[in-house]
Amino acid sequence: MDNYYQSFLIKYAEIGIKGKNRHLFEEALVRQIKFALKKVAGSFSVRRTSGRIYVDAQTDFDYDDTVMALKSVFGIAGICPVVSMADEGFSELSNFVVKFLNDVYHPDAKKPLSFKVAARRSRKDYPLDSMELNAKLGAVILESFPSMRVDVHKPDIMLHVEIREKINLYSEIIPGPGGMPVGTNGKAMLLLSGGIDSPVAGYMIAKRGVKIDAVYFHAPPYTSERAKQKVIDLARIISRYTGPIYLNIINFTDIQLYIYDQCPHEELTIIMRRYMMRIAEQIANQTECLGLITGESIGQVASQTLKSLAATNEATSLPVYRPLIGFDKMEIVSLAGQIGTYETSIQPYEDCCTIFVAKHPVTKPNPKRILRSETRLAERIEGLVENAVSGRELVIVRELEET
Ligand code: ATP
Ligand code: MG
Repeated sequence: MDNYYQSFLIKYAEIGIKGKNRHLFEEALVRQIKFALKKVAGSFSVRRTSGRIYVDAQTDFDYDDTVMALKSVFGIAGICPVVSMADEGFSELSNFVVKFLNDVYHPDAKKPLSFKVAARRSRKDYPLDSMELNAKLGAVILESFPSMRVDVHKPDIMLHVEIREKINLYSEIIPGPGGMPVGTNGKAMLLLSGGIDSPVAGYMIAKRGVKIDAVYFHAPPYTSERAKQKVIDLARIISRYTGPIYLNIINFTDIQLYIYDQCPHEELTIIMRRYMMRIAEQIANQTECLGLITGESIGQVASQTLKSLAATNEATSLPVYRPLIGFDKMEIVSLAGQIGTYETSIQPYEDCCTIFVAKHPVTKPNPKRILRSETRLAERIEGLVENAVSGRELVIVRELEET
């Protein structure tokens, strides 16, 4: 592997991150970059100098995998492959620029390319200012490549020249995912099912810098080992972006059967949902999660009408984050495709909720009636919930592991 570029300049959105927060943001970003690069062939150093982050290859490395890994790090706005040189005077810089254009773009008469030089001098002791650099380097380029021309509005090549301790050249900015580095905004508990929606919901909240724990409710033997594995697989795909995920697997069978025995069947889904919320809240409180996350979206199914959402919401005092609330299915499917969860989500393994659904679930649950139905569970429900929480299985899901 002989790569032309040995370094990447990492751009991040700087708006709103000032003072102490900026420091935390950058530290978290460096940490997440290092984590993401662990899985790439090659060894790298990640350094932070004067408000910039650079990734330098220390060995041979896989260029495409490196770019792909960096594209999964929240907080990165752009990835710029750079070449750098020591400052040895303007004529050395001119040669370097000409060589760069030759190596990367092979300009010739058959494909006339337009360009613009965007120089930035962050070292005031450099003898030329940015305007002078733009003009003089522009002249050098025009002279060396008669086929090239200047276009200051929409150039084919935007040649960035940065005068720092060293001089950096780059002309490509590969878009990153944006957002904030995971770990800069606390932690929340994702209710992760095997469906299409909840993995996307987790991704979106993680993109705001929130670390994600997850909880999955299964109902063996009504749901299979394979259905559980599917959820672990989904968590693993999300962990590409979020880092390791602590996945709590709750055996929900006894609770579901008990509700099924005691409560009106048209209310089953809502009451089950409410117990999911309660259990998720208990685990969240034990693990410093500051909110719950679900994949709910208004009107998608009977249990997601405004009345049903209100009834579900009431079961917990934690904030419930529903990033997909205003999305329609097509939009969610498209996001699932982009983040890579769709193919796994559509595998046909049963969900614990589908087994116990009524033919005609209520779409406008009456809060008083729901509460009344739940009093029928008084005798055993507390013990069942306690057992479910204390008997939970914890799987730490990492991207690198194969199970
Ligand atoms: P998804 O595609 O995420 O499964 P859905 O469209 O199937 O969502 P519901 O089945 O109504 O919708 O579930 C709504 C939300 O409740 C899910 O997005 C998820 O956050 C949570 N949820 C549902 N079932 C489970 C489960 N078995 N374990 C954990 N969370 C669940
Ligand atoms: Mg579902």
